[in-house]
Amino acid sequence: MALVPTMGALHEGHLSLIRAARVENDVVVVSAFVNPMQFGPREDLERYPRDLGRDRRLCEGAGVDLLFSPTAEEMYPRGFSTWVEVEGLTDGLCGRHRPGHFRGVCTVVTKLFNICSPDRAYFGEKDAQQLAVVARMVRDLDMRLAIVPCPTVREADGLAMSSRNARLTPEERAQAPSVYRALSAAKKLVETGERSVVAVRDAIRTVLAEADLGEIDYVEIVRADDMAQVSVVEGSCLIAVAVNFGGSGTRLIDNIRVSA
Ligand code: AMP
Repeated sequence: MALVPTMGALHEGHLSLIRAARVENDVVVVSAFVNPMQFGPREDLERYPRDLGRDRRLCEGAGVDLLFSPTAEEMYPRGFSTWVEVEGLTDGLCGRHRPGHFRGVCTVVTKLFNICSPDRAYFGEKDAQQLAVVARMVRDLDMRLAIVPCPTVREADGLAMSSRNARLTPEERAQAPSVYRALSAAKKLVETGERSVVAVRDAIRTVLAEADLGEIDYVEIVRADDMAQVSVVEGSCLIAVAVNFGGSGTRLIDNIRVSA
């Protein structure tokens, strides 16, 4: 049995996870739950897109057996007081910029695993730190399932698909592909021999400057296995970017893998 955990407002990225799950499992469960515990007090919990009717239709069309969409009260009854926390891997990137975020993610994912007892759970590489954190949690706590990573699905112009993209203003949407353009330029630079983190980050910032409606949250180069910052680009690394489009209050993340 497969579980595909989501926050709903499904798009082609989610559907690619569902399709991968459909191929490898007899039963596919999708959860759609906007988990309040992974949002900070000044984040977009209230404004997060929700459309359960559409999610249901998309799941039916994709051959999903069960769509699980609990309420916050069901997931967090009065007196809820148990948390799952992964250390180290959560120190940088989104962990640093969103305190408590991964504690909320790990806690809800643990609950979903316990509720559904899947053999496999599918996660997107778009949220690379989340994927690494969940895989570490499963290993460390001897959870009896496999975590299956799935590649990032992009719009034709390179923008990584995200439920939050729908909230971008037309002007922001026009600038948003700069995020992937910047990552692609960085990867090319590494492929042509650049090993300096400073030089690669500068190149990314130069491209991102085109998106003047966005404010950079972080541009980081980390080791792919433990998300630790590197001083030179070597081995398998992840170049990760977060940009906040303040007009609509939409924060976009993306990453690209490089080998040097
Ligand atoms: P979300 O609903 O945004 O929390 O995402 C639910 C799952 O779908 C996570 O494992 C995400 O990494 C994955 N996902 C979201 N967007 C994409 C995408 N563009 N490509 C691949 N996976 C994605």
